[in-house]
Amino acid sequence: MLDTGKRRNHGDEMPELPEVETMVNGLRESLFGQRVQRLRVLCDRLMRETSASALQKVEGGKIVGLSRKGKFLLFHLSNGSLLVFHLRMTGRLVLVPSDRPLSGVDRARLDFSACDWALSFEDQRKFGSLSIVQDGEAGSSLLDELGPDALHVGLREFREILGGSARPVKALLLDQRVIAGLGNIYVDECLHRAGIHPQSAASEVPPDRVRRLHAAVRRVLRKAITCGGSSVSNYRDSRGRSGTFQLHHQVYKREGMECRHCNSTILYIKVASRGTRYCPSCQKETRIPRRRPA
Ligand SMILES: [Zn+2]
Repeated sequence: MLDTGKRRNHGDEMPELPEVETMVNGLRESLFGQRVQRLRVLCDRLMRETSASALQKVEGGKIVGLSRKGKFLLFHLSNGSLLVFHLRMTGRLVLVPSDRPLSGVDRARLDFSACDWALSFEDQRKFGSLSIVQDGEAGSSLLDELGPDALHVGLREFREILGGSARPVKALLLDQRVIAGLGNIYVDECLHRAGIHPQSAASEVPPDRVRRLHAAVRRVLRKAITCGGSSVSNYRDSRGRSGTFQLHHQVYKREGMECRHCNSTILYIKVASRGTRYCPSCQKETRIPRRRPA
């Protein structure tokens, strides 16, 4: 599907919570109750920590639940196996006709008994991952390390997270161990709506702004889910449909354009080595003043 080869800033294009939620919701309609006939792994890099026996255990299991944790997609099987997908940058889970030949971007294929559809894990850049863990078994550390989900974290916990860190607020919100689900697009969008400079020390953000940020995170994520996510370049859902939340972006990929709120020019800087867009008028920095160079 559409990939124009425009690769500048491709590192920003990772599916985040709304895109993963959209994908899970779409897949649930088609895959709930389906029995796994076969799992073919077509790329060595896809499954670094999963044994061959875990792979075998998947077969014959029925999908009894699909869920999301942070940016991970989880398939819960009736036999206690859990398939854990992470799309990273260009990964996609796509429903394809079960007789469709494998292609160069297929990294795994999940076939189902008595089903006209198969699930293909396509990934051009091969950063995506699949792990199989057994319910209740240690080894799902990648999930255990995640912080509270950005969609559900309460205000009190959110305040504690920000108040306890002197890191730049953007870097903190990108850290999945601190809060799970946010990435470059939605952090920039939420910080703009809350009027917070992305480089502000998290613990220095005034309480009223923390409350605004917490509300903005929920509002933005919910709206983005309603819109089917943001499709800036790569992202498509499980049926190849684009999201539309990019039409509501206030700052992301809008550097050099006018702020929709105040008409100042949106600026581009690097924070935590990520391309970052913000409005210098709407988002004033709050931090302990640094010593000025003589
Ligand atoms: Zn502005």
